[in-house]
Amino acid sequence: MPAERGIAEAAAVLRAGGLVAFPTETVYGLGANALDARAAARIFEAKARPSFDPLITHLADAADLPALVGTLPPPVAALAERFWPGPLTLIVDRPAVIPPIVTSGLDTMAVRVPDEASARALIRSAGVPVAAPSANRFGQLSPTRAEHVVRGLGAAVDVVLDGGPTRCGIESTIVDARGPQAVVLRLGALPVEELIAAIGPVTVRPGSSGQPVAPGTLAAHYAPRTPLRVVGGVVPEPVGGVRRGFLAFRERPAAGYAAVEVLSPAGDLTEAAARLFDALHRLDAAGVTEILAELAPDEGIGRAINDRLGRAAATWSPPPPARAAGR
Ligand code: AMP
Ligand code: MG
Repeated sequence: MPAERGIAEAAAVLRAGGLVAFPTETVYGLGANALDARAAARIFEAKARPSFDPLITHLADAADLPALVGTLPPPVAALAERFWPGPLTLIVDRPAVIPPIVTSGLDTMAVRVPDEASARALIRSAGVPVAAPSANRFGQLSPTRAEHVVRGLGAAVDVVLDGGPTRCGIESTIVDARGPQAVVLRLGALPVEELIAAIGPVTVRPGSSGQPVAPGTLAAHYAPRTPLRVVGGVVPEPVGGVRRGFLAFRERPAAGYAAVEVLSPAGDLTEAAARLFDALHRLDAAGVTEILAELAPDEGIGRAINDRLGRAAATWSPPPPARAAGR
């Protein structure tokens, strides 16, 4: 089927209230008409996503935003102008046409313009804003290939557009720039350093850096089914008889492991981010009892990689039970 026909048909499915999984430059999204509360409800159902976790609305062009929400606060407009299309999600006031289910009842809305021509063609052809979280079951690994979507969501999706592996491989950076100083709500594919270069100092919300304030305080998310543990720069020897997987940031000796994935042989952060979830999907399917993961250098997109690894590990390291006092 020619791609254009695929996009036109998928756009018709969106207009009719259906669910379309589509590639963006970050990860695959699970899209529905953001003006249609019933269609948005199907996203939560398909993902088993809690209703309190709001969706990101996607637009075809930056020029569509003022038409949807009216005049933007100047710093928000400046960021949209500078970084769209691209992996930056901005917080704006929720317009009345967007039903509250999309924003989980918040009076704000997260919105972005993806830097992927087919995604923007799909949204433009549908003629509506498209609400789209990542196209995976809630809490699990994000999808960076169409087959990840099919394996994870299967029949719950009406159409899956296959655009091959996604370019960035990690979710968008979410920024609330409405106040006096911009706040990074989620680290992502747009490095914080680039934001600072564009608009000056920003606040990174505690808990969004991947470094837990205290053990177990990280929200569990982005997790493989196999237990995952972050090991810093050290590579512990595998225990005899136990099949373990190793996620290495760069090329390094890892003899004795049943499965090894190297994110970037030369240690390139952009390449590592693009391969992160794909490598975790493979390790998850390798039949190992545990995955050890090495952190990336904590700079640029490496901070987002470490954020995702920290949250994946948090799923598998619940806080220790409180000790009974005086015993
Ligand atoms: P996902 O698209 O699955 O990667 O998740 C989207 C994330 O965007 C949510 O988990 C929220 O953290 C964030 N988000 C969406 N809407 C808002 C909003 N109005 N304010 C703050 N964060 C938001
Ligand atoms: Mg997600």
